[in-house]
Amino acid sequence: MALEELNPFAIAQKQLDIAAEIMQLEPALHEFLRWPVRELHVTLPVRMDDGSTEIFHGFRVQYNDSRGPTKGGLRFHPHETIDTVRALAAWMTWKTSVMDIPLGGGKGGIICNPKVMSPSELERLSRAYIRQVGRILGEDMDIPAPDVYTTPQIMAWMMDEYSFMRGYNVPGMITGKPLPLGGSAGRGDATARGGMYCIREAAKRMGMQTEGATVAIQGFGNAGQYAALLAPRLLGAKVVAVSDSKGGVYNPKGLDPVALLAYKNDTGSVVDFPSADAVSNSELLELEVDILAPAALENQITSDNAARIKAKISAELANGPTTLDADEILHEKGVYVLPDFLCNAGGVTVSYFEQVQNAYGYYWKEAQVHELLDEKMTAAFQAVAETSEQYKVNNRIGAYIVAVGRVAEACKLRGWV
Ligand code: NAD
Repeated sequence: MALEELNPFAIAQKQLDIAAEIMQLEPALHEFLRWPVRELHVTLPVRMDDGSTEIFHGFRVQYNDSRGPTKGGLRFHPHETIDTVRALAAWMTWKTSVMDIPLGGGKGGIICNPKVMSPSELERLSRAYIRQVGRILGEDMDIPAPDVYTTPQIMAWMMDEYSFMRGYNVPGMITGKPLPLGGSAGRGDATARGGMYCIREAAKRMGMQTEGATVAIQGFGNAGQYAALLAPRLLGAKVVAVSDSKGGVYNPKGLDPVALLAYKNDTGSVVDFPSADAVSNSELLELEVDILAPAALENQITSDNAARIKAKISAELANGPTTLDADEILHEKGVYVLPDFLCNAGGVTVSYFEQVQNAYGYYWKEAQVHELLDEKMTAAFQAVAETSEQYKVNNRIGAYIVAVGRVAEACKLRGWV
């Protein structure tokens, strides 16, 4: 058997290829959609606190802007690669399209380890990135947002640097900002909340009760923490396992998400949380639970472990957690996969609401944001579920058919292909 493909961009291209064949996409259009339209590689000298200068490398990929300005998060990660950023930019293109919001897809990244950098070093790195990449950013061009290991504070520094470059305040050039700088109510938990709405709709379709359902969550950052807090509140579900990069904890009787969060804030990890057993990141994925939420990084569910996944629903809050081979195995086993660019689209949807509010200079109440997000997520879920049933394909390919169809139409209408 050929080695399993683990390069996220190769995976993203192959996913597109499968959908393109089913959709009988014209060859030129198909080939065009396999590649980013634009990318910028930058080299950033940054003064460190000890007086030395370190050189960092970063990227910004603008994948497709046929439906609107490109939009997508920015990662700070020691293992960041251009191909990961390309894949994430492609998935952003399909994500904004499946949600039917007037944006394209982009993504950025800096190779760095934010865990060993001081706040002032992170600030200088963030500003250095904007000084180079700012020339291709803007509310009508490309709008970044937080992603792995980037925070509202980092968005604030970047917005400030960009505003200096332009000579006036430009809150709409970036989203996920703190509230006093034009952030949106409801942005913090939007990714997880959107995922919960998706799970609720999937459960209805499957005839499954979410009340009392057990949940395991891999990753305990923005997506994972809010998923743990919201699963009991929005679904009546019980969180039994969570993990972070250092390891995980499991208690079949349930974990208290509020206490877990306080513990993680105190100690830096969920590991050794009292009255729970230790569980590794890979063991967590294979637990006997109703709902699994991968909320960390790519390539967590592979051909090695997919057959041992026992959850009824896999709600992909992370981007790219499942490989192509694993997808097939899960589909055959009857695991209901809520694909990443649908399931975690709540974040970009509320980012889009943030941009709209910045443009109007008028801010909505949190309840309004929740209601509009619910409407958008539910409509996107229905479109994907119906398309998957119609074409007899798994939900990921169904989501591709919906999303690629809209982007292809926009490219054709513009006369690009
Ligand atoms: P984050 O930086 O807030 O948290 C990342 C979490 O993952 C941390 O708890 C970290 O300990 C954990 N982690 C890192 N490596 C791990 C490993 N090998 N095993 C287990 N856990 C590990 O990041 P986030 O914003 O929560 O992003 C998580 C995922 O969700 C990413 O795939 C991201 O692209 C996706 N996502 C985030 C958003 C958003 O709005 N934040 C939106 C859409 C998708």
